[in-house]
Amino acid sequence: MQHSEQHKSGYVAIIGKPNAGKSTLMNRLLGSKVSITTHKPQTTRHQILGIHSEDDLQIIFLDTPGIINPRYELQKAMMKTVDRARTDADIILLIVDVTDYEVPGRIFKMFASMKGKKIFLVINKIDKTSEQQVKVVTQNIQERFDFDQTLLVSALNGEGLQGLMTAIKENLKPGPPFYPKDMLSEQPVRFFVAEMIREQLFLLYHQEIPYSSTIDIVQYDERDDLDYISADIIVNRNSQKGILIGKGGKAIKKLGKNAREVIEDFVDKKVYLDLHVKVRDKWREDPNRVRHYGY
Ligand code: GDP
Ligand code: MG
Repeated sequence: MQHSEQHKSGYVAIIGKPNAGKSTLMNRLLGSKVSITTHKPQTTRHQILGIHSEDDLQIIFLDTPGIINPRYELQKAMMKTVDRARTDADIILLIVDVTDYEVPGRIFKMFASMKGKKIFLVINKIDKTSEQQVKVVTQNIQERFDFDQTLLVSALNGEGLQGLMTAIKENLKPGPPFYPKDMLSEQPVRFFVAEMIREQLFLLYHQEIPYSSTIDIVQYDERDDLDYISADIIVNRNSQKGILIGKGGKAIKKLGKNAREVIEDFVDKKVYLDLHVKVRDKWREDPNRVRHYGY
């Protein structure tokens, strides 16, 4: 795919205390089609991802569990979240509920240690209080860290969100789209389908194959009579491709048959599973690819 030199893209991590309005904000920024709030934090292994695409730009939002709490185990989880944000995100949005605005000091320490990231303060729920209170809270937090931008919003009624979008777009760097332009989110069914194919890799292959492979669902068409699924099996090195396919395609046929049966059971429908093996040299070492494949 060719993309113009002008194309911009970037990852935007949304962090903040539980209930600050992170998920509501992401939904509003993405539009009504994505309902990512149904995910339960305990069951979500992956970061929740929302994609906003335009002809010349793509923004990938990372909605984090956002546990910001002084207790030790929670602190660890928060550290992980912020750590991932640190490595993945180009822009970090600190969402603060204007009516519950305490932010632990170490958040600011961590921000101070991050280089090359834009950090925006997003004061949310301004619909809930007076202008005066918004001002006091904003000044209070601004005194503790030198944010690149400060935005006052209501994720609920949409106030200030256009300004936030504009600020994000202005801070995107030139880069390619990481996802198809019509993709809005990780699809739960796709995700499980990929896991089921991956499971077969573990059952049928030995040594490093399962560990150096991942599954990329490139097409999922729900048709009346069956689900058409096209999936790439991504391997790390060219030599692994032959092993995966096997003599006369025998190995991959078995993989395809087994996976199809499990998926048919799961979606309760006939499935046509179209598998292709692709070599992506050292994909595991490439943060963009790793992110693209959903880790
Ligand atoms: P998260 O835990 O940070 O993801 O927070 P949620 O997005 O789940 O929101 C927590 C609660 O705050 C929900 O009841 C939302 O409806 C509410 N909320 C989020 N944004 C706003 C806002 O701008 N104004 C008001 N009044 N409520 C909001
Ligand atoms: Mg949430």
